[in-house]
Amino acid sequence: MLEADREKKIVLSLVVPMHNEAGNITAFYSRAKKVIDGVGVSYELICVNDGSTDDTLELLLALRKRDPNVKVISFARNFGKEAALTAGIDFSSGACVIPIDADLQDPPETIPALIAKWREGYDIVYATRRSREGESWFKRWTAHSFYRLANRVTNIEIPKDTGDFRLISRPAVESLKRLQERNRFMKGLFQWVGYKQTAVFYHRESRNAGKTAWNYWKLWNFAIDGITSFSSVPLQFATYIGLFIALLAFMYAIFIIVDTLVRGNPVPGYPSLLSVVLFLGGVQLFTIGVLGEYIGRIYSEVKRRPIYIVREAVGFDGPLEQGTSPTVRDL
Ligand code: UDP
Ligand code: MG
Repeated sequence: MLEADREKKIVLSLVVPMHNEAGNITAFYSRAKKVIDGVGVSYELICVNDGSTDDTLELLLALRKRDPNVKVISFARNFGKEAALTAGIDFSSGACVIPIDADLQDPPETIPALIAKWREGYDIVYATRRSREGESWFKRWTAHSFYRLANRVTNIEIPKDTGDFRLISRPAVESLKRLQERNRFMKGLFQWVGYKQTAVFYHRESRNAGKTAWNYWKLWNFAIDGITSFSSVPLQFATYIGLFIALLAFMYAIFIIVDTLVRGNPVPGYPSLLSVVLFLGGVQLFTIGVLGEYIGRIYSEVKRRPIYIVREAVGFDGPLEQGTSPTVRDL
């Protein structure tokens, strides 16, 4: 390798989180490669194998043998998409970084538009989908409600219909790396750093092969993470509900006293008593639950465990993040 070649700076880092994506790798690689070759910039394709149980890692290593622009990070287990993205971004060295899904739902053909905006001087160019194909109305409705709620109760503005697919400039990436929280809601973190941002629009396709790893329970937890990471409004919510109920109960008590004085001794109000007790019990459990959500997150933050553990990293020569000592090999 010529010295000049080694000095050549990488312009674009594509970061691809992969969990059981064996069925998509070939198609993804050929489509992405065609697009990047068209743009004609130097690049690295960082594939993060997030504890796949299929042939994802083998396929990636085979790909790496054919194309040295492919770099592979392999986790010790499944850490989740947010951790995979974090690792890919930590290891990236490009002047701009684009996280992209392996299932071709984020069409690589959008990349030139993202880069064009970056060249105009934007630091974060997010890709907003015009349509969602292959998703039920229920999923679209829940997503829509989530964005509305999140934007109302948090002090960051999360753009609607925007996933993790976006371009992030090196300065913004360096800022992002300083956010070391364990409960990672990447869409919120991307927004939190600020910088000059803009959107480009694209058409979201349905999954190429395999099926989504997200069920509604995971999405629900993801939504709670998103809101509690950026807002303490739910805590205040608990306070206000508690106050409101206490006020109602107080007025009801006065009503009963006055009623007894005016109309004499009524039939002992067993049903109303029980319903009030149960209602208050429910409110108390709810508020304790809200507190629990935050305490659970505080607990996972104070443990300061690493966000991910890399078992193997192939193709990187720089120092590795996070104090782990993965096997680094160069194929
Ligand atoms: N993914 C991951 N770890 C996980 C789940 C998903 O790295 O635990 C990756 C997955 O391989 C894909 C991307 O995250 O590249 C998006 O996942 P998916 O298509 O399942 O989500 P959806 O498109 O339904 O939001
Ligand atoms: Mg998908």
